[in-house]
Amino acid sequence: MSVAENLKTVTQKITNALERSGRAPDSVTLVVVTKTVDAPRIQEALTAGVSHLGENKVQEALPKIEAIRDHSNVTWHMIGHLQTNKVKRAVEYFHMIHAADSVRLVEEIHARAVQQGKIMEVLLEVNVSGEASKFGLRPEDLLSVARAAARFEGIALKGLMTMAPFLPNAEETRPYFRKLRECLLALQDSGLTQMTQLSMGMTNDFEVAIEEGATMVRIGTAIFGER
Ligand SMILES: *Cc1c(COP(=O)(O)O)cnc(C)c1O
Repeated sequence: MSVAENLKTVTQKITNALERSGRAPDSVTLVVVTKTVDAPRIQEALTAGVSHLGENKVQEALPKIEAIRDHSNVTWHMIGHLQTNKVKRAVEYFHMIHAADSVRLVEEIHARAVQQGKIMEVLLEVNVSGEASKFGLRPEDLLSVARAAARFEGIALKGLMTMAPFLPNAEETRPYFRKLRECLLALQDSGLTQMTQLSMGMTNDFEVAIEEGATMVRIGTAIFGER
């Protein structure tokens, strides 16, 4: 299957999931994940109309962002775990950081954004499963970090992100996505009403994530094939 055909299939599944859950069409942003994907195939996705791209490693992303910068209007999402020493570059090259997971990191994003005269869009990553192997804030620490982030003028705090455990039966991921939405609603109740985005759902589980309220899905394999 070509990239364009895969995109069509994924887009249709997104539309169907939105319809099933009574949500507005176009209420989900498809972030096409291009890690390990070379420039010609990224170009295929762009030609097919994609405008949001995601990478999980700053170093790998920079040459790709440079390569297509001049001839495309792409929004770049940094979706992976971010080390403090990579923040400067991330702020320079990306539009949104999905996986802020500590006050320290949030402070660094703010400082670098101010230096560069930018306001960086940020999501806080939450470890909803509690797995030791996963990055992300504990739900009980979320409110204090969100309040801190909301005070930084270099940051536009947009919402939450999570990675569900990999489960062969996608239906079993539902409770984790539901949990993230509950976290967001609790923050909104606490006055953080600017937080509206839920970045959740990948190739294996994006339809369930959309049914549970995802506003951004991050999809690689279903579009470019196995890495
Ligand atoms: C790789 C990656 C994805 C996409 O995963 P697929 O299963 O290939 O769709 C989504 N989010 C993050 C953080 C990733 O690193």
